[in-house]
Amino acid sequence: VAGAAQPDCVFCRIAAGQIPSSRVYEDDRVFAFLDISPLARGHTLVIPKSHAVRFDELDADTAAALAEAVRQLAPRVITAVGGDDYNILNNNGASAGQVVRHVHVHIIPRREGDGLGYRWNAGKATPEELADLAARIAKP
Ligand code: 5GP
Ligand code: ZN
Repeated sequence: VAGAAQPDCVFCRIAAGQIPSSRVYEDDRVFAFLDISPLARGHTLVIPKSHAVRFDELDADTAAALAEAVRQLAPRVITAVGGDDYNILNNNGASAGQVVRHVHVHIIPRREGDGLGYRWNAGKATPEELADLAARIAKP
């Protein structure tokens, strides 16, 4: 069920204050806290307070609030840890690496030479394939 808090969802419980976390931001719709197993110092998670598994399941107002919180928090995180840059990451579904089944956006501080890496193996596509796919995605 999208919306209602799930008693066995760890991020619902964190947003409700039932599980302790290092909170960095909170408003009516959004909660943000430090990742317990950070990929970099300052690694932050931004979540909707209402339960949804995937980004596309959010209602428009919640998605907008989530994006705005990420936009405002990212430079604060970077300033706090003295980083240079950052990745924003959101995994949707198990094959995409989502472990916690409650929408969350990672803010991952980056700096030159941090060794984290990020390049995936790029594929190839012909112009015809791209045109065909674009038409299918754009179809109402
Ligand atoms: P995912 O792989 O689902 O995109 O990311 C889940 C993230 O949540 C991981 O980076 C993991 O370290 C973090 N995480 C999982 N459980 C907890 C928790 O109980 N507290 C905090 N602060 N972070 C958690
Ligand atoms: Zn939840």
